[in-house]
Amino acid sequence: MTGPACDLRLLRATLADGRSAAIDVTGGRIAALHPPGAPMPGAGRVIDLAGALVLPGLADAHVHLDKCLLGLGWRPHRAQPSVLARIEDEKAFRRGGRTPLAEQGAVALLERMLRGGTTSLRTHVDIDDVTGLDHLAQILDLRAQWSGRVQIQIVAFPQSGILRCPPVAGYLDEALRMGADLVGGLDPVGIDGDRDGSLGTVFALAERHGRGIDIHLHDGGEAGLGEIESIIARTRAAGLGGRVAISHAFALADADDLRLGRVAESLAGAGITLVSSVPGGRRCPPLPRLRDLGVAVCLGTDNVRDCWNPSSVTGMVERAMLAAHRFDLRGDGEIAGLLDTIAGVPARALGLGPGAVAPGLRADLAVFEAACLPEVIVERCRPSLVMARGAVVLDRGVSPAA
Ligand SMILES: [Zn+2]
Repeated sequence: MTGPACDLRLLRATLADGRSAAIDVTGGRIAALHPPGAPMPGAGRVIDLAGALVLPGLADAHVHLDKCLLGLGWRPHRAQPSVLARIEDEKAFRRGGRTPLAEQGAVALLERMLRGGTTSLRTHVDIDDVTGLDHLAQILDLRAQWSGRVQIQIVAFPQSGILRCPPVAGYLDEALRMGADLVGGLDPVGIDGDRDGSLGTVFALAERHGRGIDIHLHDGGEAGLGEIESIIARTRAAGLGGRVAISHAFALADADDLRLGRVAESLAGAGITLVSSVPGGRRCPPLPRLRDLGVAVCLGTDNVRDCWNPSSVTGMVERAMLAAHRFDLRGDGEIAGLLDTIAGVPARALGLGPGAVAPGLRADLAVFEAACLPEVIVERCRPSLVMARGAVVLDRGVSPAA
């Protein structure tokens, strides 16, 4: 006697493109999509979605699990509006006492993200003269504990700079040996005061360990644009196309259209991904224009209730809505296109999440009680059911089929 053809079947699902299908899941992956009326083999567990919308598990391309203070109650925001002032404020906070990161807010944040449908994320982990490698060790432990629910990539992040904070270069080297996936960087001009020295160290570490790069760039104007052009040149020279990301890239908001077009073409050609939290103010790069110019654009949460930002927006659906609002996207096609920034591009460009609902892909899925993708985004819906690697990890009451 043979067993069922699949472990789990999601009946009457609506896909992002509007098709109806039954989704078969086996061994943590999508085994098949059956159109309505098609003959189907037997299944193990069956869940009837009654037409609910099924999206791939969402991907957060930039978050700071180790900074989050959600577990400590409200902390008034004290930092001055400069990167350096915020660095010092955070270090003063940490010198005042330490709580294990899991209790401080990392677990609360992971739980919130999962409730919003995020099943993959890239977290930057602080490595500096106060934290040393302690945060990394704790986040590596958390990654192991959460491996069945959330895919976690770790960036070794020099929050106090590299050249400006001498022990950090050695710590980054060790961090990559310990299990960090990527080497980070921070404002080579604004913080380290030496563009080529700072970038040279980051790229040397990446090449030595065979890892990718994800650099925070807040530097604006000509300094920031020069950094981006230098990263493009170094990426090409090192053959690191497809493995380098720039987070924030505020300087792109300062470029005139001609310069923006040139830089965008080079970013796309070099295979460099842009990650943005869609910040307020005047520093947000023109994301729709960059996407039109061929740049791979992903969205990320960045800071949540920490020394940098009291923001509590943790869901990628909400983040997509921020982008729709910021860039005045109103048409269904424009709004639906944002799914690519929170699922498709992260999968293709960063290896983060399945990116789509299709046979062979990892069965990370988020189910929404909505008619279509634009409705999910404008209503900032939360999923009624979340699956990771084929297992239900959140269920708000979708009942099994009879
Ligand atoms: Zn960040």
